[in-house]
Amino acid sequence: MNASISPAQRWQQIVASIQQELCCVPEDELQWIKQNLVNIHALQSELHQLFIAGDGLNQCQECQGDCCDLGNNHMTLVNVLSGLLFNNLPAANFAQSCPFMGAHGCTLAVQTRPFNCVTFICERIEARLSAEQCQEFYALEKQLRAQYQAFDQRYIGSSLRGLLIRSQSMPGSKFLAGCD
Ligand code: SF4
Ligand code: SF4
Repeated sequence: MNASISPAQRWQQIVASIQQELCCVPEDELQWIKQNLVNIHALQSELHQLFIAGDGLNQCQECQGDCCDLGNNHMTLVNVLSGLLFNNLPAANFAQSCPFMGAHGCTLAVQTRPFNCVTFICERIEARLSAEQCQEFYALEKQLRAQYQAFDQRYIGSSLRGLLIRSQSMPGSKFLAGCD
């Protein structure tokens, strides 16, 4: 993939390529993807419930998404597959600090948000969780990481470093090509 084009153009190319590749995925492979995405969605929803329990919605609104300024490269193959197969994939706006930051916060469904986003809580949110809730949060993070790693081990385009970075080190390869 041409590294000299803008991130917005590269992003469009990446999404279009993955969409095209999905059309040729054998049925049993598609079922593997969908089942594992369902597992990821469930874990991300549970993490989000704990984020809410820590007053995350109010805290993040007050802080106006400070940590989202670092979100440029977070979207992974898993998240694009989730958007394409289950939830919508909103348009990316690379004029924003994170291309998925909207006027009212993140435009991605909770289940489709990047690993780095759903597993990060800052001190002000963590301080509002009980010790048990914190323990549960980090246990869920561990399970979720293992689910993302299952995709990393299966597909060349999958990496927690994010698609914009990953796509630069896999010239000529398909995102859903096997890792064998
Ligand atoms: S997690 Fe913390 S730093 Fe990030 S937006 Fe919310 S309150 Fe701000
Ligand atoms: S994807 Fe959403 S939660 Fe993650 S950095 Fe961007 S706006 Fe924030």
